[in-house]
Amino acid sequence: MNIATPLNIIDFDAVNRIAGQDLVSEVRKIDDEQYYPEAIMRAFGGTGAYGTHLAGQDASCDLGPAILSMARASETCLSTGFCMWCQDALGWYIASSDNAWLKTNILPKVARGEILGGTGMSNPMKAIANIEKMKLKGTRVDGGYRVTGVLPWVSNLSEDGWFGMMFAVEGEDKGVMAIAQADASKSVKLRLDHEFVAMGGTATCQVMFRDVFIPDEQVIGDPAMPFIRRIRGGFVLLQCGMAAGMIKSSIDLIRKMEGPLGHVNRYLEKGADDLEAEYTALVADVLEMSRTPYDLSDGYWKRVLQARLRGGELAVEAAHYAMLHSGARGYVSGGEAQRRLREAYFVAIVTPATKHLRKMLADLDA
Ligand SMILES: Cc1cc2nc3c(=O)[nH]c(=O)nc-3n(C[C@H](O)[C@H](O)[C@H](O)COP(=O)(O)OP(=O)(O)OC[C@H]3O[C@@H](n4cnc5c(N)ncnc54)[C@H](O)[C@@H]3O)c2cc1C
Repeated sequence: MNIATPLNIIDFDAVNRIAGQDLVSEVRKIDDEQYYPEAIMRAFGGTGAYGTHLAGQDASCDLGPAILSMARASETCLSTGFCMWCQDALGWYIASSDNAWLKTNILPKVARGEILGGTGMSNPMKAIANIEKMKLKGTRVDGGYRVTGVLPWVSNLSEDGWFGMMFAVEGEDKGVMAIAQADASKSVKLRLDHEFVAMGGTATCQVMFRDVFIPDEQVIGDPAMPFIRRIRGGFVLLQCGMAAGMIKSSIDLIRKMEGPLGHVNRYLEKGADDLEAEYTALVADVLEMSRTPYDLSDGYWKRVLQARLRGGELAVEAAHYAMLHSGARGYVSGGEAQRRLREAYFVAIVTPATKHLRKMLADLDA
């Protein structure tokens, strides 16, 4: 489906302004007080940032602009960049599905940031890779499924928000993927979880399902596996926006230190130029792959996993060098480098985490 609105176009000047001004003035509050920047998330929706990757299985589908917008926000604040990924993933699932009800009633509002939400797919992704067991279980009933279980973390989510999820069907060897709504009156309950060293401003919740009815009109993959194959490339590739923003901002931090500390920083093993070369190559690779997100081949999937792995590793490495180059300036409690370093590890541990990526790559080669 093509959303025939001006949201097919991103206003990059507006994205730049929001990320470079509005978000800059809120970033300390986001990090220190676990403040969720809802107004900024909605404002990004108004720029078209969540709308351009939703062309569905059309040859024109391109994830590039969504990735670049997410990268721009992540340069300032990874919590916000991650929330953009959550929002993008939600839209990506619906646009990639054949579900007319969701495409008509939910997708346009997600694209504009009027509905905010995310994805609880970390556990299923790990279950598919034989890392852990499925946490949600469903039973077939008339007109849908009844689902019970707990998802430990779903971000960018508040009461009434929507999110992608998957459950194992009791007595059958299959999973089903659907879009659910956080609605306490329907027994989908949220509990905020802020116990993190960074990323507390992501509205991350524990989501409890107690015998929740998921109607067929909210199902996007039944059985889930063929659908997962369709969305997996975009799911993982979009995350590279977070990595790109983190790497770029770390390089910028290193360059800022060249004036005051360049005479001694030049003895460090890596500097801005070394990281820049790897960053440029990574972004070029990601943007090229972004033009064919529905390529189902193993070769493409492997290349996506390699880029995502490199993105996570380079994000941590760049933030590490930004810390070393910044020295004490970065080590004070309000220092930018220490915040970036705490945030950078998230790129490497969010699903698919570094170890998960390495397992998938090893399994592909086996
Ligand atoms: C800030 C934040 C936001 C997130 N947002 C989302 C989201 O929107 N959607 C989503 O699906 N996932 C989300 N996650 C989960 C994330 O994607 C990863 O699944 C998670 O970070 C762990 O991944 P891992 O592969 O390193 O697993 P590991 O940490 O190696 O293993 C995970 C296992 O450890 C268990 N475990 C977790 N915490 C503890 C603990 N304190 N003590 C003992 N055992 C524990 C879990 O039950 C799980 O079975 C979020 C995580 C964080 C930290």
